[in-house]
Amino acid sequence: MILMKRPIFVLLTLLLFSIACVGISTPATQTVAAIPTGTNDNPLVYGNITLKGDPEFITQTRAALALLEEKDPEAFTKIQTYVGIIEQGQHSGMWAWEIPPRYEVGNATAFYSVTWYASTIAHDATHSELYTRYQNEHPGRACPSRGVQRRGDRALL
Ligand SMILES: [Zn+2]
Repeated sequence: MILMKRPIFVLLTLLLFSIACVGISTPATQTVAAIPTGTNDNPLVYGNITLKGDPEFITQTRAALALLEEKDPEAFTKIQTYVGIIEQGQHSGMWAWEIPPRYEVGNATAFYSVTWYASTIAHDATHSELYTRYQNEHPGRACPSRGVQRRGDRALL
């Protein structure tokens, strides 16, 4: 357990250093924060994503995210950028217009298999990405993907 103390010490050093730097340097441009990974002490958080559901659902969701993190870093980065909450629910669907965007997942999707579940997370993160892009390009207008999301799945799949 001595090994565990070293990263904490490094983290504290970095934290103190960054506190000391506040006020000295202000970044000129907004920098994209590094995507945090699943190496987190809190099981209900995976990187930027909050997980909501029963313990089995949380375990399954973490397995799916870990699979994506390991096998498809590009998809994982997209998910971490465009999905804020993954929540167990009655049905599966991406609530892209919520803040933060929420992926609601039914048990049929989550527990079919870890691989299948992971692919649906990546798929629905794309809905959120497209929605966000549309909002950025057409501020104040309703996104057409909200109505035709399911039809659009043919193009995404
Ligand atoms: Zn879809």
